[in-house]
Amino acid sequence: MFVTALRRPPRRSSRVLAMGETHRARRRRLAALVAERDAAALLVTRLVNVRYLTGLDSSRAALLVPADGPAVLATDGRYAGMAAQVCPELPVVVDRQVAEALVKRAAEDGLGRVGFEAHDVTVEHHTALLDAAEVELAPLGRLVEELRMVKDEEEIGLLREACAVTDRAFEAVLPEIRAGVTERAVAIALERAMVDEGAEGPAFESIIASGPNGAVPHHHPGGRELQRGDLVTMDFGALYGGYHADMTRTVAIGEPAAWQRDLYDLVHRAQAAALAAALPGAETKDVDAAARDVIADAGHGEAFSHGLGHGVGLEIHEAPLMGYDKTGKLMDRVPITAEPGVYLTDRGGVRIEDTLVVRAGGPELLTTTTKDLLVL
Ligand code: ZN
Ligand code: ZN
Repeated sequence: MFVTALRRPPRRSSRVLAMGETHRARRRRLAALVAERDAAALLVTRLVNVRYLTGLDSSRAALLVPADGPAVLATDGRYAGMAAQVCPELPVVVDRQVAEALVKRAAEDGLGRVGFEAHDVTVEHHTALLDAAEVELAPLGRLVEELRMVKDEEEIGLLREACAVTDRAFEAVLPEIRAGVTERAVAIALERAMVDEGAEGPAFESIIASGPNGAVPHHHPGGRELQRGDLVTMDFGALYGGYHADMTRTVAIGEPAAWQRDLYDLVHRAQAAALAAALPGAETKDVDAAARDVIADAGHGEAFSHGLGHGVGLEIHEAPLMGYDKTGKLMDRVPITAEPGVYLTDRGGVRIEDTLVVRAGGPELLTTTTKDLLVL
């Protein structure tokens, strides 16, 4: 239909050129890391990493990034046109065997030691790559994931909009969250509202956990109807421009009992402590501890059964992972979540989660929905 054709931006629009520069800069930073590891190139096979480095969002592509010299993209015939449009500056090899084609190219170019993404390539695929050409394949760790941890302002802008969409969707759906409505219906209403507000879709499968189901951190929303006296935990987020928002709010259906208010206040205080600790240079395990100590001091340490949070970006869970057993330091412009929770078997639970950006002057909250306990 020509409607689609009309919507397509003109080839090599100024936006494509601007994004081209962004992606070129990312590839330059990666090339420097590849050179540091004494490799001649990195074969990038994780699709999300190819997208980060080229802008191409596809289901089949790979990228060869030499330490020195221009990168080469490979994709199949379905995406060749899109590749030419999105990254016109890159030579494109059109071949269904994308990684094999690039390994052959590396051998032809005399590149000796080629890094690969060992966390992505299967043993079977590794054998096929070695059969394809005479190259030395070296696991180089998660180089692109390391680069992706610190976001540029363009990425933060997309994440900010993903979170704004999430906030607006929650506000729109609030009147529908009441006794008699099923968890599943709330999930669908939230997901529809996010799309109405501009999302490409939900960033992940929404969690709606009511009453005793709130004791299960990753409860799958089902047919249980919300009841007066429930706490309802809703964990959801919008996907926008490829970036993932992640927010959790817990609300009360009808006037909450004293233990429910106490539990809510506890998790709220724990989350505030984590936010205050999320500064550049902070050890991730110390940020986790800031929240965990508050909960442990109240005697619920065992009931906070997961890590504090995780990085967000082109994936819903990415570096850095934040937990008591995790190492690493936060840096300026790293988006993370802070999501402490307390889960009491057979009774219910509370989790409060924001997406935020670590900044020198203190965190920039991207999800801004109130954290006062809403009584619906
Ligand atoms: Zn979440
Ligand atoms: Zn999360």
